[in-house]
This record gives sequence, C-alpha cells and structure tokens, in this order.
Amino acid sequence: MKQVVVGAGILGTSIAYYLQKRGVDVLLVDADFKGKATKAGAGIVCPWVSSRKDPDLYRLARAGAIYYPELVEELKQDSDLETGYQLCGALALGQDEEDLDRLYQEAVSKREETDFVGEVRKLNNEEAKEMFPPLQDDVSAVYVSGGARVDGQKLNEALLKGFQKHGGELLEEEISLASDDGEVYIETGRGNMAVKQVILAAGAWSKDLLAPIGVDLTLEPQRGQIAHVYTEQDTRDWPVVLPQTSHYMLAFEDSRVVFGATRETGSGFDYRLTAGGVHEVLHEGLTVAPGLRDATLGEVRIGFRPMGPDYKPLLGRVSDFDNLIVATGLGPSGLTIGPYVGKLIGQLALGEEVEVDLSYYDPLR
Ligand SMILES: Cc1cc2nc3c(=O)[nH]c(=O)nc-3n(C[C@H](O)[C@H](O)[C@H](O)COP(=O)(O)OP(=O)(O)OC[C@H]3O[C@@H](n4cnc5c(N)ncnc54)[C@H](O)[C@@H]3O)c2cc1C
Repeated sequence: MKQVVVGAGILGTSIAYYLQKRGVDVLLVDADFKGKATKAGAGIVCPWVSSRKDPDLYRLARAGAIYYPELVEELKQDSDLETGYQLCGALALGQDEEDLDRLYQEAVSKREETDFVGEVRKLNNEEAKEMFPPLQDDVSAVYVSGGARVDGQKLNEALLKGFQKHGGELLEEEISLASDDGEVYIETGRGNMAVKQVILAAGAWSKDLLAPIGVDLTLEPQRGQIAHVYTEQDTRDWPVVLPQTSHYMLAFEDSRVVFGATRETGSGFDYRLTAGGVHEVLHEGLTVAPGLRDATLGEVRIGFRPMGPDYKPLLGRVSDFDNLIVATGLGPSGLTIGPYVGKLIGQLALGEEVEVDLSYYDPLR
C-alpha cells in the first residue's frame, strides 16, 4: 500500500520528495485549485529581521532558511529545473535612528546564533539606493547579507520533478477523505483506495477535507493579492526590501519586481482581484519605490494562505486515526519553512526521531 500525500504545493512536494528519495512508495495527489498559495507566494526567505516574535516559529524559520542551500544542491542532482533561489541580501527600512538601532540589534543578536545572517550594516539613503535604485528618499536601512529569495513556483516544479525522477506517482484530481474503523482512506475518481498513511498537506483546503471524518481544524484561507511589475533595469542583484509594514518588495532576474501583498482575513476562497486590493499593493509599493511608477504592470496573482489559530503551523498526528498526519497552517511563512517542515514530516511519517519537538504545533490546538 502507498503513502498518500494530498496537496502538491511547497509543503506536499517537499514531503513527497523527501519520502520518495528514501525508498517510500508515494502517491502525490493534487487538484490544481485556483489560489494555490505556492503559485502566488512572493518568495522572501529572511527571518533575520522579522515583525513576528514567536520564538518557536523563529527557530523553525531559522532552520528553514539554513536548510535552503542544502536542498537546492540536492535538487541540482535530481532536476534540471531552476529554483530561483538566491542569496540577494535584504534591506530592512527604518524612518529614524531608533528604528535602525532596533533592526540592527535584532539582526546582530540573531547572528550570534547563526553565521547565516551574514553581514549586518546600517546604510544611509544614498547607500541603500545604490542597492535598490527606485527606493524612496526619506528612509535609511539595515542591510543583512543573509536575506534570500526563491521563486515558489519554480521550486515547486523542481521538487515535483525530483520526486518523479525517483519513481513517485502524481495523480491530478480532487480527492476526498473517508474513514473506517480508525483508518483513513481516500476516495478518488477510480474508486476508494486503502492507503498505508495519508499525509494531508492541502494548504487552506485542509479543513474541508477533514470535516467528513469528524476532525475540526482551526484553519482558514487568507487571500493575498500580489503585483508583478516589469522595469527596464537589471534587477538580478537587487535585495529584498522590508519596510516597517506587512508590505514588502523583491526583485527577480527577469527585470521583475514584486509588490506584496494584501492580508485579507475572512476572504474565504473568493478568487477575485479587488479594486481595493490592487490599489493597496500598488500604493504601498510605489510609496516605498516611487522610481517604479513607470514600470509595466504585468500581473496580479491571488493566493490563499493557510492560516491556523496563530502564526504557527499545524503539524502532527491526529490521535483518533492510526494513519493520518496533518501538515498545514504555514500562513505567511510557507516558502521559508515549507521545505524544512517537509523534512520533519517525512521523519514523522517514517517513524524516525523528528529533529524538532512537534508538540508546539499540535494540529488540533
Ligand atoms: C501573496 C502571498 C505571498 C507570500 N509570500 C511569502 C513569502 O515571501 N515568504 C514565505 O515564506 N511565504 C510566503 N507566502 C506563504 C506561502 O506561499 C504559503 O504558506 C505556502 O505556499 C503554503 O503552501 P502549501 O503547500 O501548504 O499550500 P498550497 O500551495 O496552497 O498547496 C495546497 C495544494 O493542495 C491542493 N488540494 C487542496 N485540496 C485538494 C483535494 N481535495 N484534492 C487534491 N488536491 C487538493 C491544491 O490544489 C493545492 O495545490 C505567501 C503567500 C501568499 C498568498
């Protein structure tokens, strides 16, 4: 019998790739729903200056950021696809000396725990603009060289290819969960399928999948609208830009700059661009980078972040069932922590010792 991973976003493909490489026979299932978070995710991997202060989540994010180079190297052996991962550095913006001191101290104290934070330096406006030319005039920044970016969609494809290279099977359809005598099975278009284990990594849809077997997850979709603009400039080495708000900016090598993102709690699965949402991301983006006013608006993507009761993910077994693992709730940090959490869930699925105490992330809390 197979182990089934439901959901082929960043988390599901990371789990499936990890397990398949270790000789487990995995069936990965995906319905390709509109609003898959991984397709819309911005791609910032930089927990070194963060507005979220939860220590457990920070430890996970730190491990996630450190895990990236290892994973990217591994994927080079298994897939000829790019991941878009690059250590491009980050600029944390501040309005005054007090802001800069706080950001600087935060990054320096995190560097005491890991060299991965890299160089930490205060920059005046002119120095910051040398790194990110369209920046507004009235801000300074703390530069952190260990900030990185990744293209979520590309990484997702590379993981999938690596999984398939090792013999993994992908089933492209919507499935449901059902249970019998404490065992979960899946209902597919080909009929019911008994499985060794189900690993539910269906992002924001995971709650609906669990309802028929009587499991009530505290999870909801949070819509994010995110704009991609194109400029004539060479953006390849531009750092990630982190203002003091929940908005941010990052560039990719194809002269593309991404303005992120709305955080629309209560949106449900309403897959629409809204006038207010598009206005918000463009307004916030152009306030921080007025030099991009003349850039070409390419597209605005929509994604549903899987949001649990707090910012921490929902990870672990559900005691009513012998063969069910839940892995979701990555919220706004899924591209940072998804690959590493995939490894942890892989360890759990294999019955190995998990290198992080998952009790902080009880899925039914
Ligand atoms: C606008 C935006 C910006 C973001 N920016 C960042 C960022 O800069 N850095 C960062 O770290 N994180 C970021 N995130 C968060 C990150 O993108 C998400 O946390 C992460 O992608 C979630 O991945 P996932 O695999 O859990 O879910 P998803 O990527 O949503 O994948 C879930 C999959 O499950 C499938 N599925 C659902 N139900 C079924 C079913 N019944 N049968 C079969 N398949 C099913 C769906 O088709 C989907 O493909 C951002 C998110 C958004 C929306």
